[in-house]
Amino acid sequence: MLILGGTSEARALAGSLPGTTVITSLAGRTSSPLLPPGEVRIGGFGGADGLADYLRARRIDVLVDATHPFAARISSNAAAAADSAGVPLVVLRRPGWAEQPGDTWHRVRDLAEAADLLPRLGRRVFLTTGRQGIAAFADVDAWFLARSVEPPEPPLPHRLEVLLDRGPFTLDGERELLAAHRIDVLVSKDSGGPDAKLVAARERGIPVVMVDRPPAPATAHVAATVAEAAERVLSL
Ligand code: NAP
Repeated sequence: MLILGGTSEARALAGSLPGTTVITSLAGRTSSPLLPPGEVRIGGFGGADGLADYLRARRIDVLVDATHPFAARISSNAAAAADSAGVPLVVLRRPGWAEQPGDTWHRVRDLAEAADLLPRLGRRVFLTTGRQGIAAFADVDAWFLARSVEPPEPPLPHRLEVLLDRGPFTLDGERELLAAHRIDVLVSKDSGGPDAKLVAARERGIPVVMVDRPPAPATAHVAATVAEAAERVLSL
């Protein structure tokens, strides 16, 4: 089985299939990635054709796309490669978040729309869109606290503090961050999963700019949990 990874769900799935030979593939974006059990390969395949070649060369029986919901290119490549190599594809994608009573969310289609909207909502921004999502805010006149696993690269907002950290994050920690930095607006991708920052924002009554997921390729079956994906893989 080949798991396209880069998420905690991919790591959990790799460790939950005894008796299966698992290869996990990572893009190589982070310098010290958390490694799953089993074989790991790192780096791109060279598009959908390269991935299809890999599936054939390694005689892969099942391809699992367990990449992040915002990693749209690799998901589209996975669908095309599985199709052309005749390999069944299982997609593991955690559900997005839903607005709760007490939330003030502004849903936007992409980071550019988030940047346009931001000046109307606050002056001190907690940006949790990841390293590659910071450049979109370079021209926004506000103060930013940006959290990412790796240091971001220019262009960057002029008034920026970078917090290098990797989740999961605790509710107490998120409360402290919002208070210590007097944050008045949060920007997040609708990644799903642990939601401590959203709870902390709700408690503080601050608005959230929520970036919608990019469209996913139409696929026969999407598993929402690791257990569901494992069951699906074992049934193939
Ligand atoms: P992307 O835009 O969808 O992919 C860009 C290219 O990176 C792909 O065409 C592929 O190169 C390569 N790639 C991506 N994931 C790969 C994988 N698991 N194994 C081998 N090659 C991979 O992806 P991205 O948004 O840059 O994300 C990169 C990785 O980080 C993903 O694996 C994802 O799960 C993880 N991640 C992303 C986010 C996010 O917000 N985007 C957040 C957390 C984790 P080739 O075409 O050469 O094969």
